[in-house]
Amino acid sequence: MTNAKLSIPFLDLPKINKRYHEQFKSVFANFLDTGIYIKGPYVEMFEKSFATSCGVDYCIGVGNGLDALTIILKAYIELGKLRIGDEVIIAANTFIATILSVKYAGLTPVLVEPDEHTFNLDVKQLEKYITYKTKAIIPTHLYGQLANIEAIKRIAEQHNVLVIDDAAQAHGAQHNDTKVAGSLFHASAFSFYPAKNLGALGDAGAITTNDKELAYTIRCLGNYGSSEKYRNEYAGVNSRLDELQAAFLLEKLTYLAEDNTCRRSIAKRYLSEIKNEKIKLPFWDQSNNHVFHLFVVRVENRKDFCNYLEESGVGYHIHYPIPPHKQRAIQEFSGLSLPITERIHNEVVSIPLNVSLETHEIDYIVQVLNQYQ
Ligand SMILES: *Cc1c(COP(=O)(O)O)cnc(C)c1O
Repeated sequence: MTNAKLSIPFLDLPKINKRYHEQFKSVFANFLDTGIYIKGPYVEMFEKSFATSCGVDYCIGVGNGLDALTIILKAYIELGKLRIGDEVIIAANTFIATILSVKYAGLTPVLVEPDEHTFNLDVKQLEKYITYKTKAIIPTHLYGQLANIEAIKRIAEQHNVLVIDDAAQAHGAQHNDTKVAGSLFHASAFSFYPAKNLGALGDAGAITTNDKELAYTIRCLGNYGSSEKYRNEYAGVNSRLDELQAAFLLEKLTYLAEDNTCRRSIAKRYLSEIKNEKIKLPFWDQSNNHVFHLFVVRVENRKDFCNYLEESGVGYHIHYPIPPHKQRAIQEFSGLSLPITERIHNEVVSIPLNVSLETHEIDYIVQVLNQYQ
């Protein structure tokens, strides 16, 4: 065991993207020469490839993950499948974007506690929150682990509600080794924010679905409500997947499966080698339903633990420090009693888990966590 102090950043994006330097330079040169900066061949190729990788008929690139969620909901409103004011069920501990998208679409978010073990929507609670106004559920596959697919499907079918999943942290996650995130429900929203498992070099997002009519409406809505230049069918927005980001993403998509395998192997090491009763490790059933976007541990005295990590040179982040219902931005939820959500937000710490970590760094992280007192 080495005792030399290392300094390991939580996430070293330049190092991660270094693998692609040559490919990026060559696609950029081609992009520059071609001169098609918006809605060009790279967007089309990426959309096709991403749809194929998810096992769906349609992928529509958009500007970012928040827009992906919002545009799906607005498209359902245009199609008459959702109405302003309808209730949408969301896990209370999701990233705020999920909740904001529902607000932006004119719908009503209903926050439900997560399951303590998986951090995902607690399906045992779900049915209690379904009313005659509930028209959709948006499960988030938080930290890269799929939500309870079968239970959500069953409940949604029983109550005839739509399911749109926030797959922004779950690129490539597989359900029963057969279906991939993006093909599990009516429509899925992805973000390619640089830090995600499939990350661009700027903002980017996408929507996947098998619903042809929905796909058409979404494509219009993200492009000024227009499918044909200067003919506007809907009051849409400008949220298109950037051509250059699509070119970068197309290169990186080839490595997604390999990267996810690498992430799982690091997670396996952490789960078997970190043995410290003060550190609660995340639940994982060892299947490919988890792509470990984040490795999130829980500690009772977070301040102390974070100081210790800092002194030891191990980078960390907190996902997320304040629960959405306590954010000033959505004060209407501040009166809710969500003790599990609040406890999670007080205890979670994300430790480094990404494809740029080297074996001696993983060894060091394990050692540092095991030595925490
Ligand atoms: C990143 C993320 C989003 C938003 O994605 P952006 O591209 O930053 O808009 C939405 N939901 C979840 C769960 C995310 O992690």
